[in-house]
Amino acid sequence: MTGELANDKRCPLCGGRLKPGLATIPFLAEGATRFEQRVVLVQGVPAEICGSCHEPFTAGRVTDQIVDLLNQFRATRAEVSITSYADLAPLAAA
Ligand SMILES: [Zn+2]
Repeated sequence: MTGELANDKRCPLCGGRLKPGLATIPFLAEGATRFEQRVVLVQGVPAEICGSCHEPFTAGRVTDQIVDLLNQFRATRAEVSITSYADLAPLAAA
């Protein structure tokens, strides 16, 4: 009777139930110019994952951390980079 909204989150795309978990999510980052884009695949991101369409949704704080960290990839020449949130998180906290 405490109104646990956290247990009844719904996917905004399909209305499925969201469950906390870890997801591998591709993020787009701007490259050295705005005509270039980098894809950074981040593994092990804490997210709410839809049980129906499997779309992951990251919390605002997590998203902010990742956006900051994507900037580090802007200077790389690789169009696709793979990293993991566990490696990034200590940097973000600094
Ligand atoms: Zn969904």
